[in-house]
Amino acid sequence: MNDQAAWEQAVSAAGSWYLGLPPDTRTTLDGLIKEIMQLKQQLVELVTSSGSSAACRSCGGECCLLGKYHVSVLDVLAYRNTGFAPVAPDFSTNPACPYSDSSGCLMTPRYRPVTCVIFNCQLIEDRLTPAERETLHEHERCLRDAVKRAVHTSGTRIDRPLLLSCR
Ligand code: SF4
Ligand code: SF4
Repeated sequence: MNDQAAWEQAVSAAGSWYLGLPPDTRTTLDGLIKEIMQLKQQLVELVTSSGSSAACRSCGGECCLLGKYHVSVLDVLAYRNTGFAPVAPDFSTNPACPYSDSSGCLMTPRYRPVTCVIFNCQLIEDRLTPAERETLHEHERCLRDAVKRAVHTSGTRIDRPLLLSCR
């Protein structure tokens, strides 16, 4: 199965699995997905307010190479729960991330994978004040904790890479 077929199958399987959950589990999971999206947004906003965008533009997105397996089942359910179609990957761009184009990431911050919103290279870390770094690490801790609770609630590794979930 090629990557595009695996992606389509996995998106559809994630949706069916979600619909098969008991209603109260779904409600708890929906709340956690909302919380996770807010935390992702806060993490990215904190970093961009330090002027990271210019640095990332001149770097060309080195940390975004090989991002193919970053999108998780949980990430794709965020699209589903907010009524949007998931990001449309282009697997022919390898090794560039399939979820990007020449203008950068195709996903708005709140939909980006956890790995992506948590990682900051040294160049970016150095732009932050000690207080900002502390806030960033606190948000990161909350995000990891919310993902852990989503795994626990769903009873499965909902944080696993979407592309590997059907293979
Ligand atoms: S976080 Fe660092 S490595 Fe990644 S795109 Fe920005 S400057 Fe480049
Ligand atoms: S999903 Fe977006 S942020 Fe993550 S590696 Fe790909 S382009 Fe970069």
